[in-house]
Amino acid sequence: MEHLPMHLEPIPALSDNYIWLLADEHGSALVVDPGEAGPVEQALQRDGLRLEAILLTHHHKDHIGGMAELAARHGAVVHAPRDERIAAVDHRVGNGDTVTLKAPDLQFQVIEIPGHTRSHIAFHGHGMLFCGDTLFSLGCGRLFEGSPAQMLDSLDQLATLPDATLVCCAHEYTQANAAFARSVEPGNRDLQQRSDEIDRLRSASQPTLPAVLGQERACNPFLRVDSPEIVEWTVRQGLSDDAGRVERFATLRTAKDHFRA
Ligand code: ZN
Ligand code: FE
Repeated sequence: MEHLPMHLEPIPALSDNYIWLLADEHGSALVVDPGEAGPVEQALQRDGLRLEAILLTHHHKDHIGGMAELAARHGAVVHAPRDERIAAVDHRVGNGDTVTLKAPDLQFQVIEIPGHTRSHIAFHGHGMLFCGDTLFSLGCGRLFEGSPAQMLDSLDQLATLPDATLVCCAHEYTQANAAFARSVEPGNRDLQQRSDEIDRLRSASQPTLPAVLGQERACNPFLRVDSPEIVEWTVRQGLSDDAGRVERFATLRTAKDHFRA
């Protein structure tokens, strides 16, 4: 299972979404967060794949819009959070549950990560993390239905996964995130290197994902609220220097909402 050659690919969809495709050598495939069906159909045909499963991280339209059409056409089994805003789900999952698939032969642990939405989940297994709109490369999702404390707790949970974990986020936001990250932590060498790599990838129209979790811990300001340079930055934003992690996180998130490169 761990060593079967698997094909992992971000399929561009809508304006800046990625639908993650994971396929085994026998042609069985799953997709994560299909916001539309067309680009998935093209990839399935291109590679001669059978769509067996659909994993959903949260209820937003740009993540589920193609689900019903794909499930109906291919008979794929839909795994989704416990949230009635997502209809026609075969298997509802929550914290600590395991999604077990026969084909591709894979298991994923479900982690509840509220903040972007109240029922947002991630799927973790085989060195891959499908985290929707919670953790982005060099950024994190907006707080639509959760508090800063909830989102920070969710990100803290994801940050405990192994360094080599491939972070499969649902949007190509990395270049804009890099500009904000550099503005708050300009002395971070790892961030400068990652930012240069991102510029090279985007000028060649390549995805910046998957990211690698160890590198995110070194570069992503939302995973670095204890970094001395970020603490100093929050003090310059008006926070007292004995403010806690949640206040520092909230200050970062609010500043990012208003940031223009
Ligand atoms: Zn979303
Ligand atoms: Fe989204």
